[in-house]
Amino acid sequence: MTCVKKNSIRKFINHVKRECEKVNVKFIMADSEFLVVEYRTRVNGYFDEDNLALVCAVKKSRNEWLPLLVHEFGHFGQHKDQRKVWKNSMLRGNDTSEKIFAWIKGQSFSPKNIKKYVRLTRNVELDCERRAARLIKKFRLPINIARYIQGANAYIYFHNYVLLRRTWYRVGKEPYTIPEIVDAMPTTLYNHYDRLPQKYVKLYDKYILQ
Ligand SMILES: [Zn+2]
Repeated sequence: MTCVKKNSIRKFINHVKRECEKVNVKFIMADSEFLVVEYRTRVNGYFDEDNLALVCAVKKSRNEWLPLLVHEFGHFGQHKDQRKVWKNSMLRGNDTSEKIFAWIKGQSFSPKNIKKYVRLTRNVELDCERRAARLIKKFRLPINIARYIQGANAYIYFHNYVLLRRTWYRVGKEPYTIPEIVDAMPTTLYNHYDRLPQKYVKLYDKYILQ
């Protein structure tokens, strides 16, 4: 790694630390490959608004953990700014993504409600990815921005697929880490993601469906 790259990462991490400290959020770079949380069992990182913690599993290559940290810090930013999309995804104190995981595990919701939970969660992720892209540029992080956005699109579109197949991906099979899926994605973020193109359904079926 060159000095410039190391410096930009150090600056970014220091920024994350400072911003978290300002609002009493615990920032943890966990020396593990994944983290265990309610519903999802295993994840690579998370921002927890209830317990005020930003956690990222970093026992993996920098190319893997750095984009994840940028993404989770995007959620921290939404919380800090109290963005409308973020507030909308909190229904009476419940995170809409938790509703989706409960639904996958068998809990019943009306089709109208589950569609709403997916749309609200997807909008939060879209806003978060816009923030992440801005952070990558601002801190000149050693992340290929076009590739990052392709991965973001693979993740945002995946929410529609969840609605279709009532499933989630396993750690290690994230849509944004599967080259065949990422390659097929656009390199810009769209304003709307309501329609899931059939070609993506086929790719998710092939590479993610268990
Ligand atoms: Zn996210």
